[in-house]
Amino acid sequence: MPGDNEGVTSTDPLAPRLPSPLEEIRDDRFARHGLRLLLKRDDLIHPDLIGNKWRKLAPNLEAARGRALVTFGGAYSNHLRATAAAGRLLGLPTTGVVRGQELAGRPLNPSLSRCAADGMRLHFVDRSTYRRKGEPETLAAILRAAGAEEAYVVPEGGSNAAAVRGCRALGEELRGRADVVAVACGTGGTLAGLAAGLATGQRALGVPVLKGGFLEHDTAALQNRAFGARTGDWSLDDRFHFGGYARTPPELDTFAKDFEQRHGLPVERLYVAKLLYGLVALAGEGAFARGTALAAVVTGRPFP
Ligand SMILES: *Cc1c(COP(=O)(O)O)cnc(C)c1O
Repeated sequence: MPGDNEGVTSTDPLAPRLPSPLEEIRDDRFARHGLRLLLKRDDLIHPDLIGNKWRKLAPNLEAARGRALVTFGGAYSNHLRATAAAGRLLGLPTTGVVRGQELAGRPLNPSLSRCAADGMRLHFVDRSTYRRKGEPETLAAILRAAGAEEAYVVPEGGSNAAAVRGCRALGEELRGRADVVAVACGTGGTLAGLAAGLATGQRALGVPVLKGGFLEHDTAALQNRAFGARTGDWSLDDRFHFGGYARTPPELDTFAKDFEQRHGLPVERLYVAKLLYGLVALAGEGAFARGTALAAVVTGRPFP
């Protein structure tokens, strides 16, 4: 048909750019140890559902079949922003349950403002209730109070079995392209799917950005729910969280700015900066054999 494939033919507002680009960069801190560094640019998948957030939300949006969405997050959650954007693009009502009752009376921070501007209804809950949202009665009470009893529930960080299976494609896109694939971890959902998608002989390395050492258990549990068993070759290095979630001390910021200047890559600070810092440190320690091709997954970009 004439006109097909001319210009923008897709009318799907969530249409992704997949597979995401894989770019090799030249960085002496790797090259001097005989290592190649590749950037897996998941930050370019979609302008509003960035990185792993697209990979995790897309299967859930399908499962929701047009129902309203409710999900959970902290005051700077990338997942809340992605969900709000999906709601705007698809015309679905969204509710965000936000950790921290004390935020309710205050002006919204830029991240929550964006959520609200995208039409998300924000419902603030105190931290102890938020922590217990996994208990069915607590969840039911939260949804009732938020007026979201009929909504499709996407868990905190978007990581459920459907999301983990969605992230398997990230690993599949990297088959034959790298020996070690590294990713920053919040819930571990992206790592769980990535590891399952890689080929035999490839391994995944997770860099937790939260303190606590719970991700070994959580990632395995997510794989059990998504695939019925622990799957693929993966491990974690718990040394690069810089004190915990959203902790970005000056040393990390200096590192990220320098990386941006060297490579022209906007470095998201809460996750991607910690990943890249960890990889530079590991390369310096001789953690990878000469000749190893490392891929770092760029899961996000700076906000705003
Ligand atoms: C959400 C997020 C992650 C963490 O993904 P998980 O699947 O929860 O481990 C990593 N990087 C960025 C930029 C994110 O926004």
